[in-house]
Amino acid sequence: MRKLSIRDLDLSGKRAFIRVDFNVPIKDGEVEDDTRIRAAIPTINYAIEHGARVILASHLGRPKGQRVDKYSLRSVAEHLSKLLGKPVAFAEDCVGEAARAKVDALNDGEIVLLENLRFHPEEEKNDEVFAQQLASLCDLYVNDAFGAAHRAHASTVGITKFVKQAAAGLLMEKELEYLGRVISNPEHPFVAILGGAKVSDKIPVINALIDRNVDKLLVGGAMAYTFLKAEGFTVGKSLVENDMLGTALQIKQRCEASGVELLLPTDHQIVDSYEPIKGGQVLAKTIPIEFTNAGHAGMDIGIETVARFSSALKDAKTIIWNGPMGVFEEPPFNQGTIGIAHAVAEAADRGAIVIVGGGDSVAAVTQAGVADHITHISTGGGATLEFLAGKELPGVAALTDRT
Ligand code: AMP
Repeated sequence: MRKLSIRDLDLSGKRAFIRVDFNVPIKDGEVEDDTRIRAAIPTINYAIEHGARVILASHLGRPKGQRVDKYSLRSVAEHLSKLLGKPVAFAEDCVGEAARAKVDALNDGEIVLLENLRFHPEEEKNDEVFAQQLASLCDLYVNDAFGAAHRAHASTVGITKFVKQAAAGLLMEKELEYLGRVISNPEHPFVAILGGAKVSDKIPVINALIDRNVDKLLVGGAMAYTFLKAEGFTVGKSLVENDMLGTALQIKQRCEASGVELLLPTDHQIVDSYEPIKGGQVLAKTIPIEFTNAGHAGMDIGIETVARFSSALKDAKTIIWNGPMGVFEEPPFNQGTIGIAHAVAEAADRGAIVIVGGGDSVAAVTQAGVADHITHISTGGGATLEFLAGKELPGVAALTDRT
């Protein structure tokens, strides 16, 4: 790696400010899904074992620069303490006296979690004075928050100007290594599976994938309807971006010109409108795409499409997957996404490198019980897409270069 890693730092007795991504769902004061917290544990343990005084900082939700109780990280400190089996102190603020007192009280190998960075509007503005206040708490800076690396904020970029060394944490390093391998040197056949709501969000990554000689592009989720409509199919009330029809056709032509096989759904689960599912009354049926009428709304890929997509993965050596195949949050429209989760896990068992990113696809591999088959589960959503699209992430660019 071009950037300094936590493994290059002399941590003993040092105050290490570790920017983590603890942006987790919290319900009734309890952490609902701790995947992101667990993902940071190797770095935290590494720092403790090497005698650092660990200062953890994160954002949570969108409190818009104000103190909002439901976005407090206090319950995360308690949860982390249980996971680590050791005390985790909590500072009521991420800067000022509250933070300083807790940091000063740390002994080697001890941990404090600072309150939500976004309680201060200066965080998202990448404010210099605020960044300097954060930096004044520490001797060394480590960024392990890959999911926030595409944002230039005070805790991801600004702070690096005021510390001697800014290094990548173990999770950050792992993300950069796996995703870096995919964009620089993927083993072929290389297959990308894209889903989710919008084509517009994914255009840069689709173009980058075509540039990187992806062999097959499998498109599901609502974004498939924009492609299908552009090809002249009736898609009824399915979610379509009408201003993207031309772009969808251009992508299709680019695929043809570059020898990229573009696979779209051939059947789907539909409802007669979006309304019935709201009341819990689901009248779903699976039909071929060409049977769709003006009243139908496509909610998920069908069984035939799951089978076609799965067989397109059979000989794949590298697979990336981002975005659900349907309205994953509303069963039974999670079936297509779960089917693809099993298919990518089987490919990984055969030896393919499989990278899954984005909240819903990650939730799907967990729900399907195949998370530990996946080569690398990326903790980033937007950051993963931007990295795969070939953009330099500000939070990575700001780290100290290896000399
Ligand atoms: P994204 O954030 O772009 O990955 O999109 C995720 C969202 O896409 C999820 O909330 C899904 O419910 C939604 N989605 C996927 N397929 C469909 C579909 N066929 N119709 C409507 N929404 C969909």
